[in-house]
Amino acid sequence: MKIVVILGAPGSGKGTVASRLVKSLPLRHVSTGDLLRAAAKNADSPLAKSVAETMRKGELVSDEIVGALVVEQLAKSKGDYEYFLLDGYPRNEKQAAFLEAELAKGGEKVAKAVWLEVPEEVLVGRLSGRRTCPKCGAGYHVETMKPKVDGICDACGGALVQRPDDAPENVANRLKVYHAKTASLLGWYEGKGVLSRVCGVGEADAVAAAVAKAISE
Ligand code: ADP
Repeated sequence: MKIVVILGAPGSGKGTVASRLVKSLPLRHVSTGDLLRAAAKNADSPLAKSVAETMRKGELVSDEIVGALVVEQLAKSKGDYEYFLLDGYPRNEKQAAFLEAELAKGGEKVAKAVWLEVPEEVLVGRLSGRRTCPKCGAGYHVETMKPKVDGICDACGGALVQRPDDAPENVANRLKVYHAKTASLLGWYEGKGVLSRVCGVGEADAVAAAVAKAISE
C-alpha cells in the first residue's frame, strides 16, 4: 500500500480532491477532520464535547487522540488498497514524526506528500461560502459549487449546513494555526524528497487529475 499525505491550508480542497480520487483509484481516504467530527457527535461524553469545542475554534485536537485514530485506520486498511490517502494528518512536526515511527514498524514510509497550493484570498472565499452535508460529508459552495436544489445535498438529500469552524470569526484562526503549525511540514517532506506541488486553483476535476498524476509517479 502506497501511503500518501495530502497537505494544504484549510479550504485548499483536500477533501474535494479526495472524494474524486476514490472514484477513479483503488484508494482509501482517511480524513482526520471527518473522523473527529464523527467522534465529537457523541454529546454525552465530556471528551467529545471538548473535541467539538476545540474544532469549532480551529485549534488542533490533541496529538494523542488524533494519532490513535490514525493508527486504528492504518491497521484497518492493511493490504486492501493500492493507496492510503491521509487528509488532515499530520498537522504538525510531532505528528509527522509519530506517523513516520508508526509506519517504520511495518517497514513502510510516506511515499508521497502532495501540496495543494492555493492563494490566501482564494482560501477565505472558499471557506466562508462552503456548505457541508452533515449526513454524508459532501461539500458545496454557495457560488462556485451549488447543489441542484438550494440547501439540499445532491448525493443524499440531507440539509446542508455551514460547519461551525467555517464561520468567519473561526476561519482567520484556522489559517493562523495552519501557518504556525502545519506549513513547516512542506519543508519536512521536501527534505525527505517526497514532496509534489500541485496548483489547487481551477476546476475540481482538473485539480484531482493533477493530484492523481502526482501520486502515481
Ligand atoms: P480543514 O483542514 O479544512 O480546517 P478538517 O476537516 O481537516 O478541516 O479539520 C477540522 C478540524 O479538525 C481542525 O481545525 C482541527 O481542530 C481538527 N483536526 C483535524 N485533523 C487534526 C490533526 N491531525 N491534529 C489535530 N487536530 C486536527
